[in-house]
Amino acid sequence: MTDECIFCKIIAGELPGEIVDSDERTVAFMDINPATPGHALVVPRAHAADLMEIRDEDLQATIVAARRLARRMEAALEPDGFNILNACRPAAWQTVFHFHLHVIPRYENDPLKLPWIPRGAEEGQIAAVAEKIRAAGA
Ligand code: 5GP
Ligand code: ZN
Repeated sequence: MTDECIFCKIIAGELPGEIVDSDERTVAFMDINPATPGHALVVPRAHAADLMEIRDEDLQATIVAARRLARRMEAALEPDGFNILNACRPAAWQTVFHFHLHVIPRYENDPLKLPWIPRGAEEGQIAAVAEKIRAAGA
């Protein structure tokens, strides 16, 4: 728990939240600004700022909880699909610095768009980047 973290406060019951699921390691609650009807967030109970900080056990529990929630939404909301999304750091759109997975039910003809435009790559560029990643090791 960090004093300033709004998600820690929702977990602790110090701020209101529409909690829809929880287990020993995770809590799921509705997003205050839903991208589509049903948009929810799954967070670890243990505070971790982002993907780089979260412990493996909490990350595993969070993705399993996200699928459990998606299955529950499947029954309750009958969406046509789902996006599971994580933003890590401001450059990648993160605005709340307590790790979370967005579970976004998708509906045919909802207004969301793919956030990138497929552009291809110059000759050899993909292979060069792949080599850099491999060279950084495990
Ligand atoms: P991020 O931009 O970090 O990936 O996602 C943060 C999400 O948290 C946003 O979708 C935003 O709407 C949601 N959010 C921000 N403040 C609150 C809050 O006080 N309560 C709830 N339930 N969601 C919040
Ligand atoms: Zn927190």
